[in-house]
Amino acid sequence: MSEGGTRDRTADTADEQTADGMVYLVGSGPGDPELLTVAARRLLDEADVILHDKLPGPDILEDIDSERREDVGTRGHGDRTPQSYVNERMVELVRDGKTVVRLKGGDPTVFGRGGEEMRYLADHGVRFEVVPGVTSAIAGPAVAGIPVTHRDHASSVTFVTGHEDPTKPESAVDWEAIAATGGTIVVLMGVTRLPEYRDALVDAGMDPETPAALVERATWPDQQVATGTLETIVDACDEVGIEPPAVTVIGEVAKTRDDVVAFMHQNHV
Ligand code: SAH
Repeated sequence: MSEGGTRDRTADTADEQTADGMVYLVGSGPGDPELLTVAARRLLDEADVILHDKLPGPDILEDIDSERREDVGTRGHGDRTPQSYVNERMVELVRDGKTVVRLKGGDPTVFGRGGEEMRYLADHGVRFEVVPGVTSAIAGPAVAGIPVTHRDHASSVTFVTGHEDPTKPESAVDWEAIAATGGTIVVLMGVTRLPEYRDALVDAGMDPETPAALVERATWPDQQVATGTLETIVDACDEVGIEPPAVTVIGEVAKTRDDVVAFMHQNHV
């Protein structure tokens, strides 16, 4: 992050190929601008171009002047910008000598294709740096009063994508193995398929009474929380009207909220 910081051994080779340009893969945190890191804040102020999607949220995006930002989430490319476009655009800008921030919600390496982008940049001789962010996988539950680990209830936590259909045999997620950990389960991208993976966990032997919660738009002004058990959580979400983006947290820790919520201050400002 700082000029005097340790440089990767490959950086010198990359320098030769990409002039002065550079890519910063930056996490925006869950959405509250106060949860940007100091490095993220500085890079957003200084970068020539910021490539982003919608996940960083309006409060962060509206603060960046529009001529420096490019929405690579939707703009002009149908529903989603192909990953190949984002990759090629980063390289093109760097070869033009630009400092590029690739801004991603939460932490750039947690279900954010950060790994794919790092690999692409390295393959194309582009110098880059990763600026970690506050992931919604931990912050989402936390701001709702749910610690993902707890000395008495959970000594492990599993982060899992809820994007895949658990009823399909080719699903890469082993819900049975996840259920067997006995620890906390945090599901990202897991609103639409909640009924399916809930069933998969119960079929795998988890107690239907296991506490569960969904936290939508954690740290945004319109944050919403639904709580219940594996048995009741689908109805609870319908009642509250939970929509993506939301994190699902399953495990004994989820009931901590009930004990503390009365004393929780929602926004720190
Ligand atoms: N890199 C991100 C995750 C990207 S995957 C991170 O570290 O947070 C997108 C998923 O992240 C969403 O479907 C949702 O499950 C979760 N998510 C991101 N921001 C969120 C927020 N503010 N509140 C709740 N869930 C969020």
